Amino acid sequence: MEIPYHDLVLEFGTPTYVYEGSRMTRTLAHVRNVLHPRLEVFYSLKANPNISVFALLHANGARAEVSSLGELRTVLAAGAVPEDIIFLGPGKSDDELAACISANIYAIVCEAFDELDRIERLAGERGVRQRVLLRINPASSAPGARLAMGGKPRQFGIDEKALLAEPGLANRFRHADLAGVQVYCGSRILDWQAIAANTRYALDLAEEVAAATGIRLDAVDIGGGFGVPYFEGEHALDLDALAEVMNPAIERFARNHPDTRMILEMGRFLVAAAGVYLVRVRSVKESHGQSFVITDGGTHHHLPAVGIGSIARRNFPIRLLEDAAGPDEVCQVAGLLCTPNDLLGRNVLLPKPRIGDVLGIFQSGAYGLSASPGLFISHGFPAEVLVHEGRSYLVRERDDPDDLLRKQRHHNFQ
Ligand SMILES: *Cc1c(COP(=O)(O)O)cnc(C)c1O
Repeated sequence: MEIPYHDLVLEFGTPTYVYEGSRMTRTLAHVRNVLHPRLEVFYSLKANPNISVFALLHANGARAEVSSLGELRTVLAAGAVPEDIIFLGPGKSDDELAACISANIYAIVCEAFDELDRIERLAGERGVRQRVLLRINPASSAPGARLAMGGKPRQFGIDEKALLAEPGLANRFRHADLAGVQVYCGSRILDWQAIAANTRYALDLAEEVAAATGIRLDAVDIGGGFGVPYFEGEHALDLDALAEVMNPAIERFARNHPDTRMILEMGRFLVAAAGVYLVRVRSVKESHGQSFVITDGGTHHHLPAVGIGSIARRNFPIRLLEDAAGPDEVCQVAGLLCTPNDLLGRNVLLPKPRIGDVLGIFQSGAYGLSASPGLFISHGFPAEVLVHEGRSYLVRERDDPDDLLRKQRHHNFQ
């Protein structure tokens, strides 16, 4: 279905993030249909933490992987049952651990031995047992991950070697119920062979750790890291090819462990392609022979498109959402921030945009708003709109200056 961008812009203004709900649910359905049915998809809220985005995915079978009190509150408010929530992150506070225990979530993914001691104490104080999955930092790295997590010094998880050297670990705790492992090998993987290899590695490692430490395997979380193509030359992950090699490995493990939950974590893959960031052209000018198109968006809403911090800075797909008024020309698509880095697209070939035209930055449903410095220059965050089954829902109000001032304390030094 075509998204009525112009109607949305008239109703909600710009800049605005628009999410196509059916695209998310279709992707989720595809994953669930082609991958082994024993795999449970846990949506990583950090990719897009909007409560309605989660509510839609949850209504279509996604469970929840969260990393903060805010994300935990979000998924509980959206109706996720505790049994389908896991909490993960390298620096959890006592408040977060206590909230997980009080909410009786399925598992805390533990990232360090000292954290294990804290879970033991906090669960003990409440007289309960809390299921814990041990996050393992694998001894070798994932081939093909754009953001490799394993095989190197990392702040995440417990080194594979250190864990394997802990016989009797399971019996050392009474309230921390060590009952599974989590292995996350990397992010933005587009190569199905790499994901299949990671999965086999994780499953083998789970059995090895269980044998070495005596922990149960109520659950094995094989991570995920499914990528989406952003740039020219990148190709979409072939889910069907992945299923063909991954499913037999899942099947083998599932048969040997009929009661083990098998968890797949997935953020970007479900939401990235469903999002577009809509901006309006405010000014058009030439400078030293280059065409600049200045929009009402920018880095403060979409840091990934600007690419600050990326090694190779490349453009997200950008399109003019108007009938072309002239031939294509090479444009610098700038934001409105007072910094030269604020370029949403460099050397983009576009039909010459006019003032008032709307541009869309595509593939923007993941890590846009949630990974951008929204306070920079005090414009605040834009609106977010979810379009689903012919209706559009405002799912986040645009910030106004009062929103930004509300949390500040004004001390008068006259
Ligand atoms: C970031 C992260 C995810 C989600 O990554 P995507 O690339 O968005 O799928 C899942 N699990 C862990 C441990 C993460 O750190």
